[in-house]
Amino acid sequence: MRMDEAYMLGRRKLEEADVGEAQLDAWYLLEHATRMSRADYFKEPKKELTKEQELRYFLYIEKRAQRIPLQHITGEQAFMGLPFLVNEFVLIPRQDTEILAEIALGLLKSLSRERQKDVTGGEPAASPLRILDMCTGSGCILLSLMHYMKQDSCLALEGVGADVSDEALQVARENAERLELEATWVHGDLFSKVEGRFQVIVSNPPYVRTKELDQLQAEVRFYDPRIALDGKEDGLHYFRRIVEGCKTHLEPGGHLLFEIGYDQAKDVTKLMQEAGFSKIKVKKDLTGLDRVVSGVYDRCA
Ligand code: GLN
Repeated sequence: MRMDEAYMLGRRKLEEADVGEAQLDAWYLLEHATRMSRADYFKEPKKELTKEQELRYFLYIEKRAQRIPLQHITGEQAFMGLPFLVNEFVLIPRQDTEILAEIALGLLKSLSRERQKDVTGGEPAASPLRILDMCTGSGCILLSLMHYMKQDSCLALEGVGADVSDEALQVARENAERLELEATWVHGDLFSKVEGRFQVIVSNPPYVRTKELDQLQAEVRFYDPRIALDGKEDGLHYFRRIVEGCKTHLEPGGHLLFEIGYDQAKDVTKLMQEAGFSKIKVKKDLTGLDRVVSGVYDRCA
């Protein structure tokens, strides 16, 4: 079969299965099955596929038609411009979460500059900033922050990623290795195994209300790990516990940054206020929905 025929047929099968972005996904799967780029395709759209490529492509199309996420088929998702390995044990990195990473990166850069300024010539170099990514999953938030801080020759980050899922941490470890970054991975229920205090804590915890899980699109509902999504009855379970844990794990003046669901800004702000956080800010994502809540804790226990 020719490339252009395979593409059209694959696309039609995805459309019939009601896959949201059938056109794009057929492209990605064709690229993944043939290892040819789109530019190669346009040079020679009538090129014959090998038997093996054809079989592989239609196997991928078949899987996608069953609503298996594209990223579980290709094994990868880009986040902050970096490639991350993913599988069924981690939440697929969302573009929505890049806003959290961008805000955290800006904050870390300014903290890093302040720290370097405080250290004058002759004195030992400033100590690294400690950052914790709570519920790290694939490690995409922590690792992208470490990558861009390193690239910008900012102060080194001592990065810790915590997760209750050992399988997820295995993915995070592999991602760190591929990006040539060294982070510490802690396996445990929230702060149970986390040691010391941090200048910055970031988290995209599970925050979907249990009764709303069934309304999510098929890809998310059936293939993203439920424990990465389920925020229990009111969706706020993990926010509550993480805010509490910050009292003993943030440095005085330390920052907490959360990703939240579009209708949770008020509740999460209230939780943080009641726990003694100040300078609480809510930021919107690119689609105009509330997406990040941040605050400063200067009342350490
Ligand atoms: N935003 C995610 C979704 O689309 C939910 C992520 C989370 O619970 N942290 O389903």
